[in-house]
Amino acid sequence: MTIESTTNVEYGFGTKAIHAGAPIDPTTGAVIEPLSLSTTFAQSEPSKPVGLYEYSRSANPNRDNFEAAVAALEKAKHAIALSSGSATTALIIQSLPMNSHIISGGDVYGGTHRYFTKVGVTHGVTSTFVGNLVEDLESKIQENTKLVWLETPSNPTLTVTDIAKVASILKNHEAKTGSKILLAVDNTFLSPYISNPLEHGADVVVHSVTKYINGHSDVVMGVLATNSDELHDRFRFLQNAIGSIPSPFDSWLAHRGLKTLHLRVRQAATSAQQIAQFLTQHPAVLKVNYPGLKSDPNHEIVVKQHRDSLGGGMISFRINGGAKAASTFTSSTKFFTLAESLGGIESLVEVPAIMTHGGIPKEERESNGVFDDLVRVSVGIEDTDDLIEDVRQALEKASK
Ligand SMILES: *Cc1c(COP(=O)(O)O)cnc(C)c1O
Repeated sequence: MTIESTTNVEYGFGTKAIHAGAPIDPTTGAVIEPLSLSTTFAQSEPSKPVGLYEYSRSANPNRDNFEAAVAALEKAKHAIALSSGSATTALIIQSLPMNSHIISGGDVYGGTHRYFTKVGVTHGVTSTFVGNLVEDLESKIQENTKLVWLETPSNPTLTVTDIAKVASILKNHEAKTGSKILLAVDNTFLSPYISNPLEHGADVVVHSVTKYINGHSDVVMGVLATNSDELHDRFRFLQNAIGSIPSPFDSWLAHRGLKTLHLRVRQAATSAQQIAQFLTQHPAVLKVNYPGLKSDPNHEIVVKQHRDSLGGGMISFRINGGAKAASTFTSSTKFFTLAESLGGIESLVEVPAIMTHGGIPKEERESNGVFDDLVRVSVGIEDTDDLIEDVRQALEKASK
């Protein structure tokens, strides 16, 4: 069986994860796609390829299959894979006209902030970061605003934003002025299992595949997905022209990882919910950020925007005792490895202020809730009880 990446076929998520972009090999019958390492493909006469492919940067079977699978899971017409999440961000920015203005949510991924402010400037990109897109977006729109960048939940304070509301502000703007502003949603933290931003009005959805989609912390890769043929053509052209493409092997590995996305994300989110509840009751914890908590200020949006109101696998919390306690906690966990990144089968823990978000000026960081005592947790798929016990003993060490 083959499932095409069409939006009108509504199989369940797990069925699509296993079968989309996974044709049985017609010559050998192989159930798992062969790895296609050839960089070039034979032609029968000039400019007449024997098969579907010419040169591996432009397209290759493993990347095509991975893209088809992601498109199916994001309920998109098209997906385009790149060599990293950052290359995906870069590609979207490079697709904008010279001197474009971007409006971005405040606490975005550190590398995204860095790209907007340090790299985009070389082709005249300016950016405005706002604390709350729903409230602040309209007043920040300029004549040259071409893109709104939204991360939900945000990183690392896990603030959920109502995508449909942001999309409707942009639709109204377009109706009034005739100028279209693209809405890009970085869906890395939730994965397509929990949320499909295109359904809520985003024009393009972006993932660092490095995180949940691959899920095994052994591939750096990115992908974007869209329903727009025009955007797809533009991005596809740039994918080939810029050449920041993933290798066939990475495409193959990420495709393998994606097949268990639903199982991994559900397990991680189920554990994260219990760990977050445990943290809220612990005296050494000042504040817990977790969208799955009923007490979360944006839980209402979670209920309408996330599958089964799942909060995802990421938690952040402020620990009593400042930077020192954060350091002791993160060095004392047994199963939560102290490391950057997230979304893998193994649990990780880090201190954003000096690790992932160290490049953002302190004042700007703190205005977004990223204090020195903030700890970020990526919950893996180990047994829930073992994870809770690990958090408990590390909190005890940190509060001594
Ligand atoms: C990791 C990450 C990125 C960047 O992806 P890379 O694959 O590391 O380049 C972008 N956005 C978010 C939310 C991320 O977590």
